[in-house]
Formats: sequence, C-alpha cells, structure tokens
Amino acid sequence: MDSATLDWPFFSDSHRELAAKLDEWARREITDGITSSSSSVDAASRAVVRKLGAAGWLRYTVPAAYGGAHEKLDVRSLCIARETLARISGLADISFAMQGLGSGPITLFGSDALKERYLRRVGAGEAIAAFAISETEAGSDIAAMQTTARLDRNNYIIDGEKTWISNGGIADFYVVFCRLESEKTPASRRKPKDPEIDEAVPEASGVRPQFIALVVGPGDSGFSIAERIETLAPHPLARIRFENCRVPADRVVGESGQGLKVALATLDVFRSTVGAAALGFARRALDEALAHVSNRRLFGQALRDFQLTQARIAQMATSIDASALLVYRAAWARDNGAPRITREAAMAKMFATEAAQRVIDDALQLLGGRGVVAGHPVEQLYREIRALRIYEGTTEVQQLVIASQVLDGYAKQESADG
Ligand SMILES: Cc1cc2nc3c(=O)[nH]c(=O)nc-3n(C[C@H](O)[C@H](O)[C@H](O)COP(=O)(O)OP(=O)(O)OC[C@H]3O[C@@H](n4cnc5c(N)ncnc54)[C@H](O)[C@@H]3O)c2cc1C
Repeated sequence: MDSATLDWPFFSDSHRELAAKLDEWARREITDGITSSSSSVDAASRAVVRKLGAAGWLRYTVPAAYGGAHEKLDVRSLCIARETLARISGLADISFAMQGLGSGPITLFGSDALKERYLRRVGAGEAIAAFAISETEAGSDIAAMQTTARLDRNNYIIDGEKTWISNGGIADFYVVFCRLESEKTPASRRKPKDPEIDEAVPEASGVRPQFIALVVGPGDSGFSIAERIETLAPHPLARIRFENCRVPADRVVGESGQGLKVALATLDVFRSTVGAAALGFARRALDEALAHVSNRRLFGQALRDFQLTQARIAQMATSIDASALLVYRAAWARDNGAPRITREAAMAKMFATEAAQRVIDDALQLLGGRGVVAGHPVEQLYREIRALRIYEGTTEVQQLVIASQVLDGYAKQESADG
C-alpha cells in the first residue's frame, strides 16, 4: 500500500504492520504475475490458498475464537490484504477474498458447532469456501431465486442450480441460499421485519417468500458440478446442481427463513473489499505506467515530460486517492460499530471498480503497443478488473442502492421539517 495512505487516521499500527509484512511476503512468494500462468487454475488456486493459510494471512478471514487475527472480522484488514494482494496477483486476491466471503455467513450467523467445524480450517487454508446465491435467472434480482429447500424430518432437501460460483469445483463447502418451501402461512406471519429485505423481496399473491442458508459439501448426495465456466481472467468458476440433495438440519446458517438477511449482511461486510481489490489493480497499473513514461523517449524527450501525459497521470492518481478514501471510509465505519454500511460500501465498490477500469485503460494507452501484448502486467490487469464491476452487485445495482438511500434520507428530512 501507499505509505502516505497508511498515515490516514483510518489506520492503526497493526494495519500498517499488516500492509508492510504482507506486501513483502507476497512479492517474495507469489511470483506467477498478476494472472497465474499455471495451466490449471484449480491447482493454482489450491496452492495459493494453502500458501496463504500456512503463512497465517487467512487468519484475517475468521474471528479470533476460531484461530483468527481479530476478535471480530476487521474490515480494514480485509481491505488492506485484498489491495496488497491484488497489486501482485489477481488469483491470490480472489482466493483470499473467497475464504472470507464463503465463510462469512458462518462467522456472522452460524451456530458454535458450525463455526468449530469450518472456521479453523478456513483460517488455516485447509478448507476452501464458496458462497452460492446467483442463478441463471436470478443475478441482480436475487430474490427471484428458484433453488428450493424443504424440511424432511431432520434433513433439508435442496433442488435447483446455482451459477457463477467462485471456487465452484474446488470448494470443500458451499454456503447455499435457497427459497424455503413450507406450508403456506398467512402473509402477515411471513413478512420479514428488516426493511431492506422488504424492499428486496416484493410480495407476490399476498405471500412473501422466505429464504434459508445451508452449508453443503461436495460429498453430499445429490450435489454435482454441472459445468465449469472459463472466464476472461483465470478464476475457478462453476454452475452447481442440487438434485434431491440432502443435508442435515444442523447445517442451517442463522435462522430458517432469514436466509436473505444472512446474505445481505455478509455482502455488506465484504462489498467494500471488492473496491479494495480494484484499488490494488489500479495502483499496479499506475506503477507500470510511471515506470514506462519515465523510460520511454519519443520526439527527443521522455514521455513523462509531455503535458498530455501529465494530465493523464494526474487523473489516474486522483482517482486512486478518491477510491482509497471511499473504501477505507466504509471499512473504518464498519469497524467502529456502524450496524450497516450499505450506502458507504456501495459507493466504495461502485467508484473504485469503475475508476480502476479507467486507470488501467489509461495505463494501457500510455504503454502503446506494449500494453496489449499477452502476458504484460497491464494486459493482464485489463482482463482482471472487468469482473469486479459485475460480481457482488453490478455498478447499476450499486447506483440503485445509493440513490434509494439518498432519496430516503431526503424524504425523511423533508417530513421532519414539516
Ligand atoms: C467472476 C465472477 C464471479 C462470481 N462469483 C460469484 C459467487 O461466488 N457467488 C455468487 O453467488 N455469484 C457470483 N457471481 C455472480 C454475480 O454476482 C452476478 O453475475 C451479478 O450479480 C449479476 O447478475 P447477472 O450476471 O445475472 O446479470 P443481470 O442481473 O442479468 O444483469 C444484467 C445487466 O442488467 C443490469 N441491471 C440489473 N438490474 C437493473 C436495473 N434495475 N436497472 C438497470 N439495469 C439493471 C445489470 O447491472 C447488468 O448490467 C460472480 C460473477 C462473476 C462474473
């Protein structure tokens, strides 16, 4: 991380130490480049999780009672780790991130038994985690999900498919979000109490659906990998299938019927970390651009001496600082007790991912032809950044979230003023 950024009041000495030590370790140990050159993304992902775990870095993804670094998840540490890793390797970043996101529902809402069973192994890099909510017909509109779970004595039976699942095919467990199938109860009894859920789940035919989060293992009967999905930048991704998949009822995460609350609260914690990863990619692009413009000579002078170059560099550096301010504002607010950081996290994610895309494009332009050569760090960044504007809520979804919070605030102020 930038040493000037680490002097901001958002950080403590432990954050500065994490940034310095992880940076030094990752530069030494993660030598594959921004995008792993390994032919097998699965093998590369497994290896990087094991390495991160053995070195102790995954302790930041679980709470202290289960071998973690902090009593509760420290969002600033998660952001620092993602920013630092993304600057060096996209695969190391997503591998770190998924250990946190995949186990996050258990950390935030799981029973002691579930925590004991999964979190220590996640923090040690011995179990790979996945978070499965998206479906082919339910991406941005998550409440439209069709995968169902129904209680059959002491088991839940899951039927349906999830797609775009990171770590799909290599995960040791998946937290799967399902529509709960049960006897019809009056709408008044089914209505979730959380206003955010009310907004996300429109009531149809007088009955508002309920959801459930369940932990599923690859060895559970009826679980299968339907398809492996190749992407622009290497990323273990799959469509997963549940056919009469039976899991014991003690694998429910949080309360039955509160699955959407579990999902939204988990995403609230991790969304700003996507902005942090984008920030790491943008910083690397600026590093590469600065090195190039300082060495490249044309028309008898260094590229850095042209004012058009300087205007571009100024824009890139300002976008990076603005992204960092939004990311670490959101993380700091959460670490300092804000119950929800929906608005702050949405702003951080939207701004930092969009800004990083522009910064990387600017870096590529400054590099000229070299920037599009396969394997150049900036060419790799150009591919790596794209998915961050989509996963964990697209830019357009963040815009809707931010606008709704701003407009609600205005309406409340107006009614308070009479
Ligand atoms: C690399 C990668 C990894 C992923 N990992 C996971 C994972 O681990 N687990 C998981 O559950 N999911 C994962 N996803 C899925 C991801 O969260 C979804 O792709 C995302 O939520 C968008 O859903 P969608 O692809 O169905 O697009 P859609 O929801 O169909 O959106 C298509 C377009 O419509 C826009 N749009 C949507 N609503 C509106 C609106 N109201 N107004 C205007 N425009 C709108 C969107 O912004 C987008 O531009 C991953 C995706 C990718 C690409």
